[in-house]
Amino acid sequence: MADHIFRGTLEAQWARVQERLQAEVSEKAYSTWLAPLTLGDYREGRLRLALPTRFMRDWVSSHYVDRLRALWQRENPSVRTLEIVVQPPIVVRRGPEIADSPSIAASPRPAVQPVVAPPMPRTGPPASRTPERSYDDLLGQPDARFTFDGFVVGKSNEFAYAAARRVAESETPTFNPLFLYGGVGLGKTHLMHAIWHAIREREPQRRVLYLSAETFVNRFIQALRAKNTISFKEQFRGVDVLMVDDVQFICGKDTSQEEFFHTFNALVDQHKQIVLSSDKAPQELDGIEDRMRSRLSHGLVADIHATTYELRLGILHSKIERSKAKVPERVLEFLAHKIASNVRELEGALNRVIAHATLVGRETNLETAQEVLHDVLRAADRRISIEEIQLRVSQHYNIKISEMHSPRRSRSVARPRQVAMYLAKILTQCSLPQIGRKFGNRDHTTVMHAVRKIEELKVTDGAIGEDVELLKKLLQG
Ligand code: ADP
Ligand code: MG
Repeated sequence: MADHIFRGTLEAQWARVQERLQAEVSEKAYSTWLAPLTLGDYREGRLRLALPTRFMRDWVSSHYVDRLRALWQRENPSVRTLEIVVQPPIVVRRGPEIADSPSIAASPRPAVQPVVAPPMPRTGPPASRTPERSYDDLLGQPDARFTFDGFVVGKSNEFAYAAARRVAESETPTFNPLFLYGGVGLGKTHLMHAIWHAIREREPQRRVLYLSAETFVNRFIQALRAKNTISFKEQFRGVDVLMVDDVQFICGKDTSQEEFFHTFNALVDQHKQIVLSSDKAPQELDGIEDRMRSRLSHGLVADIHATTYELRLGILHSKIERSKAKVPERVLEFLAHKIASNVRELEGALNRVIAHATLVGRETNLETAQEVLHDVLRAADRRISIEEIQLRVSQHYNIKISEMHSPRRSRSVARPRQVAMYLAKILTQCSLPQIGRKFGNRDHTTVMHAVRKIEELKVTDGAIGEDVELLKKLLQG
C-alpha cells in the first residue's frame, strides 16, 4: 500500500478504532486515558497518536498500545508501528493537513482533564467498586470477540484448546501452570481471553487477572521507582487465576524475572491457577534461569502448531458468518491457501477484501481480491515459516511433527529433519542458530551439516532431489 494515506481515510479509520475501543473498555478508563488521544500523522507504516502529558503517554503506552495497534491493523494493515507522543495541550501543534481537515476541527474532542493517578489496587479504594472491577480497569480489557465460541478448532490447536477449556472449567488447578506456546498470531491471546470470559461467566466472584508480560514488567518498574513494590506484590498474590501473556518478554530482564518467579511460586503454593503464553517452549526460552525453566514446564505445556489449510478456511468461514459479509468461496479458498503464516494476517486480508467490496459496492471476485491484496500476497510469498516447513515435511514423510524437535537420530526421522532444515535455510531469512533452536535446540553446526548433506543428496539421490523440489513448490504455493 502506498505510504501516503489520505487524511480523510485515516480519520474515518480512527473513528472506527475509537468506537471499538469505547465498546471494549470501561467508561472511566476510556474517558481518562483514551478519549484524550488525538490522531497525529502517518508515514511509512508508522502512525502517531498524541496525548497531552508524558504521564498519560506512559500509561497508555504500557496498557493499551497493543490493543490500539491491533485495532488499527484491522482497519488498516499497513500501520505497522504505533507511536504515542506527547503533545502538550497549550501548544496545539497542528500540521497543515490536520488544520485544514474539517472533520478533525469539528470533531468534539474532550477537553484535556487533569490526570488522576491510575487507581492502585488496595491503596486508594473507591468504595463503590467491587474488587473484580478494579482488576478489570487496571489490567487491560479482554477482547470481547475472543471467546471459546469464536475459536475454530482444528488439528493444530485442539490440544491447546482442550487444555484451556479444562482450566476454565475446573475450580482447582489440574495442571499448573498451563503453558501455551506457538508462533505469532496463532491464537494464544485469544485462548487466554476466552478463559477469562468463561470463568467470569460461570464464577463472577473469582478473581481472574490477565496481563501481558510487558505490562507486568512496566508496572514492576513503576513500582520500584515509586518504592511501592509491596502493593505491587499484593495485587498479584490476591488473585485466583493469573494469566501472563507473552512471557518471553520477561526473559533477560533479571529483576523483573526474579519478581515474576516469586509471584509465580507464591501462587502455585496457594494452589492458584496460572496460565502463561509464549512464542517458544520453556526449554527454548533464552535468558532465564534453569529453575525457572523447569518450573514453567512443570504443569502442562501445550503448543499451537502452524495452521493447516482446512483450519484457515474454517476460520474464514466463521469470520464471514459473524460479519454477515458475502465473499465467494473461491476467494476464501484463495486466501486460506495464500496467507498461511498467521491468523491475524489472514483476518486482516479478509477485512480488507470486505472493506473494498463495501466501498465499491460490488461483490469481490478472485481478480479484485488479488489486486486489493497484492502487497500482502507479495509479502506472504516471501515469508514461509519454519513451522510451516516442519509441518509439510513431516506430512510428506508421514512422521510426527514432534520428530522435528526430538533427539532421535534414526534415519527415518533424521533425514526428513535434515530436509526441513535445508528448506528452512533456503526459504526463510532465519540464521543457522535460529533454525537450530526451532529443531529441538540443536546447534548451528548441526544445521550446517544438514544443509550440506541435502545439497549433496540432491545431486546423488534422485528421490531426495524430487522430494525437495516438490516440498519447495508446495511451500511457495
Ligand atoms: P497470538 O496471541 O498467538 O499471537 P492471537 O490470539 O492474538 O494470536 O490471534 C490473532 C488473531 O487471530 C486474533 O484475532 C484471533 O481471534 C485470531 N485467531 C487465531 N486463531 C484462531 C482460531 N483458531 N479461531 C478463530 N480465530 C483465531
Ligand atoms: Mg498474543
